[in-house]
Amino acid sequence: MARYSGSLCRICRRETEKLFLKGDRCFTEKCAVERRQYPPGQHGQRRGKLSDYGVQLREKQKVRKIYGLLEKQFRNTFARAEGKKGVTGEVLLQLLEARLDNVVHRMGFAPNRNSARQLVGHGHFHVNGRKVTIPSFMVRVGDVVELKEVSRNIGIINDNFSKMEHRGVPAWLEMDFQKYSGKVLQVPAREDIQLTANEQLIVELYSK
Ligand code: SF4
Repeated sequence: MARYSGSLCRICRRETEKLFLKGDRCFTEKCAVERRQYPPGQHGQRRGKLSDYGVQLREKQKVRKIYGLLEKQFRNTFARAEGKKGVTGEVLLQLLEARLDNVVHRMGFAPNRNSARQLVGHGHFHVNGRKVTIPSFMVRVGDVVELKEVSRNIGIINDNFSKMEHRGVPAWLEMDFQKYSGKVLQVPAREDIQLTANEQLIVELYSK
């Protein structure tokens, strides 16, 4: 599957907002948004006011980039959300949160979703005791995600994992740091999803 391989900080600068795509660097003064609070490019500082459509488009692009999806994948996820019961925007975010790469990141096994996707793709995780290598795999309530025993000495995992013990995980997940595993307790409510986005704008955009 193709994926974006350009500068991650450029994405944040395009949205003029910190999207926390990298990890520790995002919390330091080296963050590109902290240093240059205007969009990238020659005309970045001269851009005018956005139209309603522009605002909706930027919101969609922001959420899509945060979860690291291509347009087609994002569209398909939205179509799936539309077919489910509930508020479409909220269901969309719940589906995005349920992706295995996101859950691995939220559980603290990886500093960002890109790393999480790579770790999942390389077969470092079991879901309910079975190896899963598909980053878009959807976890369900009650699923247990566990790092394989042979993978527990990987530096990047241990570094981030030890920080997570102090930072804490979202309320809809429960961790067992001794066993390098975590359980999905419930479908996250909107207030449990740590994301500053107005999902209603995405619904409006796709409803045109
Ligand atoms: Fe975004 Fe993190 Fe880069 Fe800052 S350091 S611009 S938050 S990816």
